[in-house]
Amino acid sequence: MSTNTATSTTAEPVLEAVHLRKVFPLHKVKPFSPPQVVHAVEDASLALRPGRATALVGESGSGKTTVARLLARLYTPTAGTIRYREETVKARGGTALRAYRRHVQMVFQDPFSSLNPTHTVRHHLSRPLRIHGHAHSAAEETRLITSLLERVNLTPAEQFIHKFPHQLSGGQRQRVAIARALAAKPSVLLADEPVSMLDVSIRLDVLNLLSRLKEEEDLALLFITHDLASARYFAEETLVMYAGQMVEGGPSEEVIQRSKHPYTQLLLSAAPDPDRFGSSDQQGNSKGWLQPALPTSGSVELPSLINPPGGCRFHPRCPHAMPVCSQQFPPRTELGGGHWVNCFLYGAENKTDQARGLFTRPLWSPALPSVLTGCRPLPIRIIRRINEHNR
Ligand code: SF4
Repeated sequence: MSTNTATSTTAEPVLEAVHLRKVFPLHKVKPFSPPQVVHAVEDASLALRPGRATALVGESGSGKTTVARLLARLYTPTAGTIRYREETVKARGGTALRAYRRHVQMVFQDPFSSLNPTHTVRHHLSRPLRIHGHAHSAAEETRLITSLLERVNLTPAEQFIHKFPHQLSGGQRQRVAIARALAAKPSVLLADEPVSMLDVSIRLDVLNLLSRLKEEEDLALLFITHDLASARYFAEETLVMYAGQMVEGGPSEEVIQRSKHPYTQLLLSAAPDPDRFGSSDQQGNSKGWLQPALPTSGSVELPSLINPPGGCRFHPRCPHAMPVCSQQFPPRTELGGGHWVNCFLYGAENKTDQARGLFTRPLWSPALPSVLTGCRPLPIRIIRRINEHNR
């Protein structure tokens, strides 16, 4: 079975995940009740390449952070393989895990809890330098800490080195967290929603900083976000996750401008983007291909991961769902140029009337927010009639 690792580059991956699976056992509430597990990640594959950013996009609870934590070895995979520079990673603790962490570092979402409030910036940066053997004297340590602070634009470094986290703004704390990750001299950086808790005004600064570091240090970067616009701005490749399953991926422009999976289209519909095809120019003329209407039906909630829907987990929300969708997970279909999708609507053998009519006869949903369509919501009985006709 092929993996979802295609990109347009030929560079060898630094870090690869192949068919990762993670389930978390739940504590029994009743003594004789059957054991239950949370199916957090199913069959996730990705490849991170030097000097490139890969965005992992999805709603809260879709399994993005679990994938990052599996890659950082904060969690042990239930099944699947992680390969660093083509070698299978088996480290569970001790020296081997420390050696792996030296190469693969993580930046956490919350800069307010990821730094210890009782320690100074100097302490936070000196620890990884000492643990990974990069500083051999106090003078060398000071020189390296100063250089780290300058690399993350905390200058003059002398002003920040003795400060405590509470004396820094959110953006400055996140820069210290990034400097701490860089102190290990990693080749892979896993950034878990690094800007989502920052003020809008400083998000772009931190994204630009990560982008510069990626290029200057040839870092392979995993950028976790629920915001497709920042994925498009920041990452060369975008992967879309839904309820623990990867559903679409490829070059960011391709995935966002020509999204195929109904879930990606749902995300895009909820994130207006003036550059996307189908929007209008200043004279009000349409720029071309129109984004399909928000394709949802039934529940608008993420399904329970304790008892997830069978087959394609999006089928309870998908207006194009077919009987086969609830029975098996769709195979990957290559769409060309590194763009792929896991959906029965695509692929030569999977062409259906629904697939052919996908963009010309979108189904309507009562959940379609009027603010996105610019129309007053239609009565449910009318929506039912339109959908009956389109089926
Ligand atoms: Fe919808 Fe079926 Fe495609 Fe899943 S596989 S997105 S349910 S059409």
